[in-house]
Amino acid sequence: QLSKRLQWIADSIIKYAPKPTRLADIGSDHAYLPSYLAQGNYIEFAIAGEVVKGPYQSAIQEVNQHQLNDRIDVRLGDGYDVIHFEDKINTVSICGMGGGLIVDILTRGQQIGHQPKLLALQPNVGERIVRQWLNDHHYQIIDEYIIQEKGHFYEMIIAQSNPNTKVTISDKELMFGPFLLQERNDTFIEKWRNELEKMKYILTSLQLSKKGDHTKELEVKQTIKAIEEVIS
Ligand code: SAM
Repeated sequence: QLSKRLQWIADSIIKYAPKPTRLADIGSDHAYLPSYLAQGNYIEFAIAGEVVKGPYQSAIQEVNQHQLNDRIDVRLGDGYDVIHFEDKINTVSICGMGGGLIVDILTRGQQIGHQPKLLALQPNVGERIVRQWLNDHHYQIIDEYIIQEKGHFYEMIIAQSNPNTKVTISDKELMFGPFLLQERNDTFIEKWRNELEKMKYILTSLQLSKKGDHTKELEVKQTIKAIEEVIS
């Protein structure tokens, strides 16, 4: 059984990915996501990419155990290096990493000519820079969700490549997520209430500090104002 987080990603791939779906799951660890999708016959082919030997071995074990070798190729390598053009990958998932690392993988992939139709992303932190990258690279966010699992808030972002259209999202949408902002579900409110508390604490510390970083202070005040506007 998948975690709630990966289940939402799996459901979104089933819903939005081009058919037949050919997936590359980068940073696959146990290859749970591609295995689930292959077992349900939702995908034609998948690459489970891993840069670290231990998780790579776990992925091989999982794929062997479920006899999915004919449809899932486990490959050792950094980011998009595991994808060859002849694999005809149309969907890429990158989940459970920081936003900075996700953006780095996406950037390097694009530099060597990869522009998959669908991206399913779940940054652990740094959601804003992921949305910014998508916005700057002709990807349109088509769905989002936020959940809380094991004490963490996880935001998932689904985006579609639209090379001929440029949609610009606002600063507020970059920060909160266009769909999450619209829905404002209980988890979203809770996440931003927590963030607000953290920001207020940081502001007090900055104000008490003798050094006095006014730029930082102003930045934190603006963030507090933005959060208050959204959750009040
Ligand atoms: N995607 C799974 C999930 O969401 O449950 C596993 C997430 S796990 C926390 C992150 C995985 O990404 C680790 O197994 C790590 O080895 C792998 N990873 C980190 N950087 C990578 C890179 N540049 N290329 C491929 N895999 C990477």
